[in-house]
Amino acid sequence: MEIRSLTDLRAADSLSLAFNPYGLGGRMTPESAAEFQQRQIADCDLTGAVAAGTRASFERLRTVFAYGVLCYDLYTLVGDQALLIYEQALRERFMEWCDGTITFRINRESDVSFPVMSYSDVTKHAASMRRRGGKLIVATNAVEFNGMLYGLRVWARAAGLVYGRRSRMTEDALAGLRNYVAHPSGHHVDTPVAAARTIRDLAELINQLWGQATPDGRLYPAPLHRDIAVLSWNDAGEARMEPAGALAAPDSAEGEGDEYQHVVVRAVPFVPNSRWNDDHWAEFDTRYETTRFPTDYLWGPGTRDEARAWLKHENPEGDSVDFTDRVFLVQNHGRMFPPRRPAVAAGLPDDERAGVWHALRADFPDDAFVHVRGTEDPSADHARHPGDCRACSVEVLGTGPYDEALRAAAAVLGPIQAVRLPSVRFPASFFWPTRD
Ligand SMILES: [Zn+2]
Repeated sequence: MEIRSLTDLRAADSLSLAFNPYGLGGRMTPESAAEFQQRQIADCDLTGAVAAGTRASFERLRTVFAYGVLCYDLYTLVGDQALLIYEQALRERFMEWCDGTITFRINRESDVSFPVMSYSDVTKHAASMRRRGGKLIVATNAVEFNGMLYGLRVWARAAGLVYGRRSRMTEDALAGLRNYVAHPSGHHVDTPVAAARTIRDLAELINQLWGQATPDGRLYPAPLHRDIAVLSWNDAGEARMEPAGALAAPDSAEGEGDEYQHVVVRAVPFVPNSRWNDDHWAEFDTRYETTRFPTDYLWGPGTRDEARAWLKHENPEGDSVDFTDRVFLVQNHGRMFPPRRPAVAAGLPDDERAGVWHALRADFPDDAFVHVRGTEDPSADHARHPGDCRACSVEVLGTGPYDEALRAAAAVLGPIQAVRLPSVRFPASFFWPTRD
């Protein structure tokens, strides 16, 4: 190889300078590039509980990232190294979780336990147990466990340490699976943008493994707070969302509210600049999951005065809601209908149960819908059988006639109580135009 001088090694890599806060284009000075890139990952710190080995590896990765300004190839190394740290974190967390003993269930009857001092003990027993058909006991489940990255990922989800369908895709990317799909030749070059995102995702994942959610994190969001809100619309197509408290104050204009239809719901409130605003709130429809986050129907429709009186009498309260890993049912009968809640589907009259039904687990209803539409395209790789879809974040639970799909949903949710809500919805819909 060519021997480079120290001065040369210290010089900024011109490729690294091409990235600036506005993307590609203008060139940054070496000084501002060094500062800008480090700021991208400055705030992703690990929580105090994280095991020492994982912490040391992660800090080394952040250090190396800073040197990307001198050597662009380091950004690609960051992405590759992140996979190893991901596995290291899982192993170290596993050792804390098992607390010196792992138990396997053989042939669904006899349990056998082993003391484990190190992770090599774990892989040794996992391999011998697998040959005998043994499964690792995690809480109330017995799961396939080979001790390798895949088995560790199954364990982390079974143990409830990580959750969410979209986050699973990011875990896939960290595990190299998505990279492999994107770069089948095995040759890829990461940009500083991709490397910084990888470090941020890795920090969030590691913190989550040790039980620390990231404030405003994007992978493992905490349950969302919901408030009581009043949705209203008029014949002119105008739509409003107000906190219930707004109705306590006298109306500004006499009779202004009368032309509007009002419904009272429990919904994620609008907060300026929050990533958790529901962009689809004005799609509300009691028959379908047309809002992005769960919105519960409480009362209506009626006039503003009636809504005010109902709120005063009932005084409903907000709550918090988990929106990840939701179960949806999608009906395909001549055309595709928007996703439904299992309880709403269970309450459908007999004559609305025709067609093929898909039971799916997804974080958002649009994810479920896009997946089912994708299964109609033979060239797309969307899963048609139960399991994780390779082409999107959805998990397929079951497909078939109505009863079969509902059974698949009940298999993961437990018995489903049917609900029959009055049919209430905004008259116009932008995101879900075909609903009837
Ligand atoms: Zn899919």
